[in-house]
Amino acid sequence: MNGYKCVACSVVQSPGFEGFLCPACGGNLDVSYDYDEAASKIDGRFAEGSNDLFRFAALLPLKWPRSPFPLRVGGTPLYPVRPLEELKGMCNLYLKDETLNPSASLKDRASAVTVGRALDVGAGVVAVASTGNAGSSLACLAAATGLVSVVFVPASAPEAKLTQMLAFGARVMAVNGTYDDAYDLCTAACTEFGWFNRSTGYNAFTREGKKTCAYEIWQDLGGRVPDRVMVSTGDGNTLSAIWKGWCDLKAVGLIDSLPKIDCVQSQASAAINDTIQQVRSVDDVVVDWSRLVVREVSASTVADSISVDRPRDGLAAVKAVIQSGGEAITVSDQEILAAIPEMAQLTGVFAEPAAAAPWAGLKHLLKNQMVAREELVVCIVSGSGLKDISSASKEVGQPCLIEPSLKAVKESHPPLDVLVPCNQV
Ligand SMILES: [Zn+2]
Repeated sequence: MNGYKCVACSVVQSPGFEGFLCPACGGNLDVSYDYDEAASKIDGRFAEGSNDLFRFAALLPLKWPRSPFPLRVGGTPLYPVRPLEELKGMCNLYLKDETLNPSASLKDRASAVTVGRALDVGAGVVAVASTGNAGSSLACLAAATGLVSVVFVPASAPEAKLTQMLAFGARVMAVNGTYDDAYDLCTAACTEFGWFNRSTGYNAFTREGKKTCAYEIWQDLGGRVPDRVMVSTGDGNTLSAIWKGWCDLKAVGLIDSLPKIDCVQSQASAAINDTIQQVRSVDDVVVDWSRLVVREVSASTVADSISVDRPRDGLAAVKAVIQSGGEAITVSDQEILAAIPEMAQLTGVFAEPAAAAPWAGLKHLLKNQMVAREELVVCIVSGSGLKDISSASKEVGQPCLIEPSLKAVKESHPPLDVLVPCNQV
């Protein structure tokens, strides 16, 4: 790590800078690296010896002696999806299953690196604003490393996520308001009490953790670069992190090309996609990123993890999609909910609504003939379906309630002759 660069105005800060936002314009910061030095450390491949994200230490901004980290974060599977009629026989499709992180979401990558940073700077209390997953993730990793966590979350967050936070011992502030209200309150409380603020789009280290997801995809594909990576998007931090991961790999000479990064949002929370469309509607103009304002919306999607009025890392995400040549794909909540059981029943991976959105986005691309059958596509499954049972239950109905007799089994509905394995159809 050799400093920070503002995402908006490009002003650079030294590595010893201890603030969070750009002192020149208030924009978000991006951690920068001496890529030549990193390339010589990596020497063609990352160090082996652990299967968590800390094996990528050459491109992480941490001093804290983190080996072994108490929980395994990262090292999640990349599953090939067999060609399916429902997906027009796509033959190079993969799911990156982030539900297998310690708190069952991709947010653990961000929490692991921010917790490492908190330990580097001697912080004892770490706070975060969250729609749910970042909070349960921070609570989990703070518990594992002996830190105290405080979570600001909308009171409407799914019960499973709130229960996770409480079980891990976080002080949970369930805010009677939106994620954006929780965000502003968390920022104010951190200033007041001197807590370390892990909030996404404020703390530059979240991107550093999440980018390791791209490194793993590259490794698991045997060094191949996907044609496109599909990312569900709320505040924009995960998407910009996935893009940064691929850019890092190119900067250290491990790859020659970059994937398109597709931004999948709900129609009911599409601030970033609206802005991308606005930028693309203007021809032949070099975008002045320091002046671009990401639109705000009034979000109300069922996909709570990506329900955001004001995307706190929106500019970085808009840049990533435009620079990568990716698509801005907006899907309905109904399409997102329908994708949960479809993906679960065709692949065995159970996603929360936001994590099923890339599958819905892929179907949108197929319907509009915007993706070829042979393209190598990776959908990021960002969080487990067990985190939001009530949304999934809207789509899957109820079990058959029967008496404990074989007669009742035979008479159950629908009739048993519908039970035919799909590989025998
Ligand atoms: Zn700036």
